Amino acid sequence: MVSFQEAQKIIKRHAPAAPIEEIALLTALGAVCAQDVKSPVHLPLADNSAMDGFVLRSQDTAGATPDQPVALRIRGTIKAGDSVHKTLSPNETYRVMTGASILLGADAVLEKERAVIRNGHLVISQPLGKGKNIRYQAEEIEKGQLVLSKGSVLNPGGIGFLASMGMTRIKVYKKPMVSLIATGNELVTPGNPLAPGKIYDSNTAMITAALDQMRIRPFLVRKLRDEPRSIQKTLHLVLKESDFVILMGGVSVGDYDFVKEILGKEGVRTLFWKVSQKPGKPLYAGKKKNALVFGLPGNPASVFTCFYEYVYPALRHFMGHPRPYLAWSHRELKGSLRPDPDKFSFIKSKMENGQSVIPLQHQKSHMISSLCEADSFVVLPNSSGVLEESQMVLVHSLP
Ligand code: AMP
Ligand code: MG
Repeated sequence: MVSFQEAQKIIKRHAPAAPIEEIALLTALGAVCAQDVKSPVHLPLADNSAMDGFVLRSQDTAGATPDQPVALRIRGTIKAGDSVHKTLSPNETYRVMTGASILLGADAVLEKERAVIRNGHLVISQPLGKGKNIRYQAEEIEKGQLVLSKGSVLNPGGIGFLASMGMTRIKVYKKPMVSLIATGNELVTPGNPLAPGKIYDSNTAMITAALDQMRIRPFLVRKLRDEPRSIQKTLHLVLKESDFVILMGGVSVGDYDFVKEILGKEGVRTLFWKVSQKPGKPLYAGKKKNALVFGLPGNPASVFTCFYEYVYPALRHFMGHPRPYLAWSHRELKGSLRPDPDKFSFIKSKMENGQSVIPLQHQKSHMISSLCEADSFVVLPNSSGVLEESQMVLVHSLP
């Protein structure tokens, strides 16, 4: 039996790391950037108008007053996307649209809303400052500037940003090859009729969804009976292909908990079995070559807790996340808790208004209703004693 800290440390030491691959930017959401990206262009790419209005030479408006306005002849229109090579002559102006290129010699734009037009002329009654309503080339990003560092997670904004520089491909850490296997004679896939003694397999749906949120699609998802031969056959196949094998059920001390034994036969070395924790004590971790194998105790709350405290960080580590573990904070407890004094406990909880946390009902490891509401665990080391209202506790936030 190992402690929570030891178990996390052992997993960290043995967690595989992803190779780098170049992928289409459009498929890179949630991936971690594996390269420093330098901008191949200036941003903005070229000087352009920030407004719909009239482009002009600010010096032409220098003496303008309401009594002695200046009239600039309107020569034409420049739309966004037009290619512009002309020079603006003194006392002339063009209509411009937002994003339109700026004529050579021009240095300001008067907003359409403020424009007075008479006889084909723009009438200006006060001076306009140089640079007014102009977006300058490179005012945001210089060509060659570092715009995204290795280790950044690609979010929709980041993908748009890289697209604005014309990029279509990006080097990222590869997603892991994950196989997900539930074992248990009692398991029935939801949607099928239940015979007496059977239960629905909820763990597969739950962990598939958790992986989906991490944008990982397991290459194999199986539900197996507690039959050593079929379990061994499947494991034999998936161990070759997988970076991570996630097994659910069959790792405890029951007469039909065959998983550990079969893993041993398949050459998987046990890293640990049993963690002094609640829920999820019979957690197993093993390794064969590069594949990390998790055996999660089958009770749904155990699967959920062990996934987020152990599997999730290992997967994120693989994908290059600089902070793979659940984020933590200290919060004020709302209500009281009587944890098991002998075990490190994870209490499903809900965070409130930035500073407090409420433990939820139905904490037993076969109970699952609290998971709908839970956004965190209150994490209590062994011998925490009774915790009273308002005491500060450690909280791990779920993604
Ligand atoms: P085990 O870890 O196989 O001893 O299972 C512990 C408990 O979790 C038993 O009550 C199982 O019926 C239940 N269980 C195991 N696998 C699943 C699953 N995939 N979905 C829901 N409950 C499960
Ligand atoms: Mg079982």
